Amino acid sequence: MTSTSRSTNSGAPQRFPVVVVGAGPAGLTIGNILRAASVDCLVLETETREFIEQRPRAGVIEEWAVRGLQQRGLADTLSERAQLHTDCEFRFGGQRFRFSYGELTGTHHFVYPQPLLVTDLVREYADVRGGEIRFGVHDVQLHDLDTERPSVSYVDAETEQRVVVACDFVAGCDGARGVTRAALPGHAHIARHDYGIGWLALLAEAPPSNDCVVFGIHPNGFAGHMARSPEVTRYYLECPPGDDPENWSHERVWSQLRQRLAATDAGPLVEGRLIEKRVLDMHSHVVEPMVFGRLFLAGDAAHLTAPIAAKGMNLALHDAFLLGDALAAYLTKGEETGLDGYSEACLRRVWDYQEFSQWLSEVYHGTSSGDAYRAGTTFARLRRLFTSPTAAAAFAEQYLGTAPAY
Ligand SMILES: Cc1cc2nc3c(=O)[nH]c(=O)nc-3n(C[C@H](O)[C@H](O)[C@H](O)COP(=O)(O)OP(=O)(O)OC[C@H]3O[C@@H](n4cnc5c(N)ncnc54)[C@H](O)[C@@H]3O)c2cc1C
Repeated sequence: MTSTSRSTNSGAPQRFPVVVVGAGPAGLTIGNILRAASVDCLVLETETREFIEQRPRAGVIEEWAVRGLQQRGLADTLSERAQLHTDCEFRFGGQRFRFSYGELTGTHHFVYPQPLLVTDLVREYADVRGGEIRFGVHDVQLHDLDTERPSVSYVDAETEQRVVVACDFVAGCDGARGVTRAALPGHAHIARHDYGIGWLALLAEAPPSNDCVVFGIHPNGFAGHMARSPEVTRYYLECPPGDDPENWSHERVWSQLRQRLAATDAGPLVEGRLIEKRVLDMHSHVVEPMVFGRLFLAGDAAHLTAPIAAKGMNLALHDAFLLGDALAAYLTKGEETGLDGYSEACLRRVWDYQEFSQWLSEVYHGTSSGDAYRAGTTFARLRRLFTSPTAAAAFAEQYLGTAPAY
């Protein structure tokens, strides 16, 4: 099924310079950059347009990433509608500790739900820039990646026929459970880390209960509060990995949130219906290098980052800016430097964010580990954050992704 009746892609229908596998933030951003440079490309997506426009996930976008979208004409609606966040709050030992990173650095976060960003990017790619996108494809396979004539094939949703598309490059943007990473040769290096922790990820039909993000550090386990919109709030509760969401009744969820986020002078939580409830096991992996022959991986397909520090979509956008610009430069001007340096340039930021996530994980989970030593060092980290200006500045830089170089 081809969703875009208004596609203006030119040339033979089954040959495209670039085939992008996956219509998430990474794939759609690359597609938009290519279309702006008048490079034809085809985006293949297993789900429907309606599904990807509603799938709830991220919300926190770093300022540099929004600037990158703005520079490429992809943030008009976001700039109008996103909330700006300048503070976060840690709650531990029954006290509230506000961390005003906006005041400290002059930089802020944008909060804009991922489904809205995906909706904007699909509209711009398919309806405005005339990009070709095929939804509902299945059994996507990659061929001849180590040659100059790779191809991608898939089974069409309507005809049930296998379609082969020849191309010059494949952008593997199909997320953590896609097929493109599996096409890497056996010797590809994949570094993995398992935190041994689960998070119950919740969306509540309830307005935020605080004017900023809250991190609750509690012996029962971590709890998080993050505004998504004036009507919807994301909450997290640390739980055993692999836990069944059905173990978490409405009453148990709100009782644990109340306990773990309790602090002197904190207002009551505004409760509401739970519209999403699923367990995420906290693990990460990084593929090195992110390139094999004519396959370039981007986003979660290359590096899954446990959502501990809200970094995954930001990294996906960073990869997409670099890969979209590099492919456009190569295909329109024959410039090779961007493609040659792509993997290394992405991985410097990826590893920095992985390290920050690992550091933050210990802050969130140390006190509930049952290990008195880890609890002691966790509190030392937290105290340092609120007593040492140098430690506060270092935290803000990592939290906002604003290091002068990666
Ligand atoms: C609960 C939660 C909260 C999060 N919060 C944040 C946050 O606040 N900030 C942040 O930066 N990140 C956050 N993240 C991470 C963020 O959502 C991901 O990092 C981001 O979606 C990655 O984008 P992507 O384009 O690489 O992959 P995806 O968004 O996963 O997109 C991949 C696309 O490929 C499609 N696909 C899969 N297989 C195939 C195939 N074989 N063929 C074709 N298409 C295929 C999928 O359907 C999907 O549409 C969060 C994640 C979760 C789960």
